[in-house]
Amino acid sequence: MSQLLEVSGVSVTFDGFRAINNLSFSIGPAELRAIIGPNGAGKTTFMDIVTGKTRPDEGRVLWGERSQSLLSMSEAQIARAGVGRKFQRPTVFEDQTVADNLMMALKAARGPLAVLFWSPKPADHSRVAELAAEVGLGDALARKSGELSHGQKQWLEIGMLLAQEPQLLLVDEPAAGMTLAEREHTTRLLVELAKTRAVVVVEHDMEFVRRLNCKVTVLHEGSVLAEGSLDHVTRNPQVIDVYLGR
Ligand code: ADP
Repeated sequence: MSQLLEVSGVSVTFDGFRAINNLSFSIGPAELRAIIGPNGAGKTTFMDIVTGKTRPDEGRVLWGERSQSLLSMSEAQIARAGVGRKFQRPTVFEDQTVADNLMMALKAARGPLAVLFWSPKPADHSRVAELAAEVGLGDALARKSGELSHGQKQWLEIGMLLAQEPQLLLVDEPAAGMTLAEREHTTRLLVELAKTRAVVVVEHDMEFVRRLNCKVTVLHEGSVLAEGSLDHVTRNPQVIDVYLGR
């Protein structure tokens, strides 16, 4: 299977400190992957590289069927090429309804000029309803986003990202601060989304990673330490040492 994203031999140095060290990572077009690793392992820097926020000193980051280099693209171009990133804290417009938030995201996905010249058509209202249903907010379209639970806000933000029709979703600790029921919903949502696009979840919570039931990449000191099922990687003595701080 050809890969959607292929990172190879990537290194990043901050003031002489190698945060990412000869990292190689790839993911297929419809794959769910969890990235775990202790604090400082390089998980955030990895996402910053893929989204163009941080530029590596060396290595390649190739994207899509045509193996385009993401390194020559701006952050906005990378987003338009199909990379969506969900930060840990939800950033929805609290005084707007769920539908308004989704409509704004649809508008933004049409490019900067759409903000000036675009007015929603019936198809756009249908798309908003579809996006809400996809993330489990089909009944909440008219609700003010500020009244939603923390979990619902996170799902709304995922819906807003889906408006850009990303082929790769990078999601940072999606289950943090959620109730058990919300975590279950989030698990199902991510599994479902990964049927038609790649989803990379950076997560500390091993119980949540177990529920995702997907391939896991363990980062340590900016490199891949182990890869495979959660059971496989957590039996690896090096992984155990890293987590126990030995
Ligand atoms: P993680 O997300 O796995 O906790 P990070 O990617 O945030 O790890 O950080 C990896 C390492 O790089 C850490 O040691 C961190 O202190 C360092 N680092 C990250 N960003 C910067 C920066 N802008 N300047 C200097 N050091 C940084």
